Amino acid sequence: MMDIVLLGAPGAGKGTQAELLREWLPIPRVSSGDLFRAALEAGTPLGLKAKSYMDRGDLVPDQITIEMVADRLARPDCKDGVIFDGFPRTVAQAQALDRLLSTMGRQIDLAVYIRVSEQTLLERLGGRWTCRAHGHVYHRLYNPEQVPGICDIDGSELYQREDDTPETQLRRIQVYLDQTAPLREHYLKKGILVEIDGEQDIMAVQGDLRAAVRQSV
Ligand code: AMP
Repeated sequence: MMDIVLLGAPGAGKGTQAELLREWLPIPRVSSGDLFRAALEAGTPLGLKAKSYMDRGDLVPDQITIEMVADRLARPDCKDGVIFDGFPRTVAQAQALDRLLSTMGRQIDLAVYIRVSEQTLLERLGGRWTCRAHGHVYHRLYNPEQVPGICDIDGSELYQREDDTPETQLRRIQVYLDQTAPLREHYLKKGILVEIDGEQDIMAVQGDLRAAVRQSV
């Protein structure tokens, strides 16, 4: 049983690293961003509520987000642990997650902060392509797909996220600094925060992430 939180700014590599970690650990990745995008594509009321916030690069209100993640966490595949990617993003969400897990007799065992400079974030967000089916991510320069426009893993179409425009990128980084960066303190106080260098290449970051997981069990 292991519950892991991945922390880091948009573009730090959370999605890429969570996906690789999921191949190694027998627990699912839960990405709040993917859940919102799926709701949006399906045209559900949740998706419609989230859309305007996402388009601006702002956070969706805590209550909506927490409810959505709580529903996901109640599904059977989450019973042995979860890799949280993009959630929590506010202190209120982190507290809600702590309460939710404690009702299940669980707790966050490890929070990994993937540290990346702002310059690198902008470079990465600029060239990012995302797969329609599962949110696998590629980069025009740093991590290109094998067949142009097609996901290596599931063969679905790659697209550029609407919130990856230059203006929303800056907004999302600012929102991260204002609202999400303070979360490091939340997990530091619990003594479960590990920092890794996200400037390294993908497999080196994954190596550090797996080492952090091994050390925490
Ligand atoms: P992401 O794919 O993680 O970059 O998320 C894309 C967008 O979805 C964010 O810019 C927010 O608008 C929204 N979102 C994702 N996760 C959260 C969260 N935990 N809290 C609030 N909004 C979120």
